This record gives sequence, C-alpha cells and structure tokens, in this order.
Amino acid sequence: MTSKGLFAWLAVAVFTASCARATPEQQVVNDAAGAMGGADAVRAATRMAIEGEGTQYNPGQDLTPSASGQTFTVTGYRRVIDLEAGRARTELTRQPAFTFFQGPQPQKQVQGIDGAVGYNVAANGNAARIPDAAAADRRAERYHHPLAAVRAALDPMARLTNPRTEGGESLVDVTAADGTAFTLAIDAMTKLPTRVITRTDNTNLGDVAMATTFDGYQASGGLQVPARLTTRMDDLTVAEIRVSSTTIGGDAGDLAAPQAAASAPAMSGAPPVTVAEERLAPGIWYLAGGSHHSVLVEFSDHLMLIEAPQNDARALAVIAKARELVPGKPLTQLVNSHHHFDHSGGVRAAIAEGLTVITHEGNAAFFEEIAKRPHTINPDALAKSPKPLTVETVGAEGREYTDGTMTVNFYPVTGPHSETMLMAYFPRQRLLVEADVYNPGNPVQMFAGAFLETVKARNLRIDRIVPLHAKVAPYAQFVKEASVPPPATN
Ligand SMILES: [Zn+2]
Repeated sequence: MTSKGLFAWLAVAVFTASCARATPEQQVVNDAAGAMGGADAVRAATRMAIEGEGTQYNPGQDLTPSASGQTFTVTGYRRVIDLEAGRARTELTRQPAFTFFQGPQPQKQVQGIDGAVGYNVAANGNAARIPDAAAADRRAERYHHPLAAVRAALDPMARLTNPRTEGGESLVDVTAADGTAFTLAIDAMTKLPTRVITRTDNTNLGDVAMATTFDGYQASGGLQVPARLTTRMDDLTVAEIRVSSTTIGGDAGDLAAPQAAASAPAMSGAPPVTVAEERLAPGIWYLAGGSHHSVLVEFSDHLMLIEAPQNDARALAVIAKARELVPGKPLTQLVNSHHHFDHSGGVRAAIAEGLTVITHEGNAAFFEEIAKRPHTINPDALAKSPKPLTVETVGAEGREYTDGTMTVNFYPVTGPHSETMLMAYFPRQRLLVEADVYNPGNPVQMFAGAFLETVKARNLRIDRIVPLHAKVAPYAQFVKEASVPPPATN
C-alpha cells in the first residue's frame, strides 16, 4: 500500500468509527471508556492492584436492626484482579472499632475467587473452598470496580440491554461473557462510572442490590480510576475503601486457587441439618444438634418455640421436630431472642408455618419489613407459601405467657450485644434461656458481667442456664465466671 493509499484507508477508518451509530446501550459503555482514558487503554489493562485502607460495617449484627455504629478499621487492604483470567484476591486486616466484639482481633482475611472456585485462606495458611452461592457473589464482586466493569462491557461477547437515564446518571444492564449480570451507571455529564450494581439473595433480606459507588477519580497508568469505593447492600453500608494506589498492569502474582480449595468438592446445596432433643423439664425441650439451638415449650393447648435461627432449613427442621415430639398440640408461637441475622434467619419460615412472632418491641418494624420483602432470586418457604405476619412485642416491663400448667416470662436484656434482645425465664423450673451473652464452656463473653447485673436486677431464682449456643450449665457456674472481669484483649 502506498503512503497515499494508507492515508486514505486511515481516513475511511476514522470516518467509519466516528460516524457509525452506536446503539444507545453501546453508547453508555463507549462514553464510560472514553472518559476513563479510551477503549483501547481499558482493553489493554489486563491486571490491576488496589491498595488502601478503610472501614467495614456490621450489617445485621449491630445493636439494633437499623444501627450502623459498629465498624471495623481496615488496614493493609490489597485487592488484585486478573481481568482476563477471572481471578481476584483480597487481603486485609480488620480491627473492631467497638468494644464488645467477640473473636480474634486483629483479624487477617484472605479471600479469593478463581473461576467457579471461591476460597478463604485462614491465618494458619490453610485454604478452604466456600459454598457456591458465596462464590457467585464473589464473582460478581469482581465487577465492582469501573475498570473491571467497563472492560467486561466492551467485550464483544457481553450482552448490553436496557439503556436508560435516571437522575444524573445513564445506566445500562450488562451480562458479562462469564454470565455475571450487573448494571453500570455513569455520570451523565462527566461520563465516568458512578456505580456498579449486582443483585443477589440474602437469607434474611431476600433480593438485595449490592452497589459500589465510585468517587474521587484520579489518573493512574493512563486511566481515570476512583480513590473511594463505597459498597452498600440496599440501604446498609457494608464497606468503604480509601484507595492509596491503583496499579494497572504489572505482575499480579499467582491468583490461582490453592490446591486444597481447587480440589475440594463444590458445595451447592444446604448442608445437612441435625436436631437433637433433650428434655430439660416436663414440657420443656432443648432442640440442639447444630451451632444455634431452640427451646420447645408445651402449654395445655398449644406449643411455643423459642428461636428459629439461621435459615429455612434449620428452622423447618426444628419445627418438624417440635411437632414430632408433641403431635397432639398445634405449634402456634415463635419467640425470637434478638434481631441478629444468624438468630432471625428462620423467622420467615416460622411465619410461613403460621406461627405468631413474639419479639422485643424494638424489632417489630424490622420483622414487618422482613415478612414483606421479595425473595424472587432464591424463593424461600414464605415466598412459596405467603402468610400474613402476626407479631406480639415485649417491652421494658417484660411479658408473661401462662395457662396454669406452664409459665414463661420474657424480659429485655439490656447491654452491649444487642439492644433488642429477650431472655426467657421459667420460674417453676428455674431455667433461664439466653442467646449470645453467655456460652458455657467457651471463653467468657465481655457481655457476661452486664448480663449478670440484668439477671440480678430481676431477682430471678435460677438453677440452670439454657444457652442458645453451647451447652446447659449450672447458674452457679455462670455467676462465678461472669464475676471475673475478662482479660484485656489488647
Ligand atoms: Zn447476637
């Protein structure tokens, strides 16, 4: 080709590129790529590493259903993404910035995804495969950065649909070549990506939008990248990362899943549930066998269940066991100890089974909301069999349920674990049921002292503590252990 011929060919190419009309959905992606530094530069980026620090929140486990005051300080944040091979790994150290956190601290976390295999690496270096549903969330999380999202959207194998403008944003739905669906939102003026949204199932909340917003764009490696990443699950803030450096290209290191995780079998279904019953007194059974226990109470004409924990599978198994133990009486009431997601994950199943929910007055609005939320991504028992919620609440003065044959009192547990918590007291059997504030046989909780004061203030006469974790213990053991101040943790 002569130089004149080459020039003419280039001119045609430029003319074609600038004048070929992109579809509206492609235009959103083209605009984003252009604002970030050009489609070629975005495509050329095959690896990236983000370093920084930030904050993690405690959604579902904070003091009240709507609180967001409990945070973890994140340091040593390093996230590496292989944009071609579909691999990513995040390392960070987190330290609770609130007093009453139970567990190792500081806590180093290593979390990775390699195609279908998601894994965590423990402090001792052992890698373990995570369940498939969690791995799918982690695959989606890979696109929660504008470079990863726009690069995937530029892939000719990606499917772009539903272009739209909302407020000051233009949005497009993307199905990446690997099948992951996300929504890319860009600023209508600057064209820089503002958010990436993916949708997933949360056991308690049902369908949720996971959205990461991008702020503080700055240049790095010829591209515009954000300095702040804020992730929310619907309205609950999950994490904020302040980026100190974004490295485009370079050596990402070995991001392949460790052998122990890669060779482990996939975990697709719910793990098997075991319910082991133990008769604590006439008409009162301990339903244990897993990490979270329940208590069955027999009244003259009906049954009451204390706690529907974790998820549908656990709650439905416990409910089935209750009906098996006392087949002649209807199970009509569920008592929830507190709102924490691990203790309330089976409440929807109980509603689906027609049970009235009894809980702390501070949880009423929360359970009204929980009962209504759509679960279309992973329909649960209540989604398949909708029932209205009936809720009874317990206030500061407590509430007694009695019919002459059986009496149980519920009292609020004030204190630093949850502000919407109940304990159950059986005056005749001298039993006290509690969740999370004293787990006999385990290191004494920092809450134990406060809980002992709560119990003493009620002048209760107790022989045995019935915990919703761990094992039944004599009350004297609790008094002894709770009276010793826990060792300082740092
Ligand atoms: Zn709890």
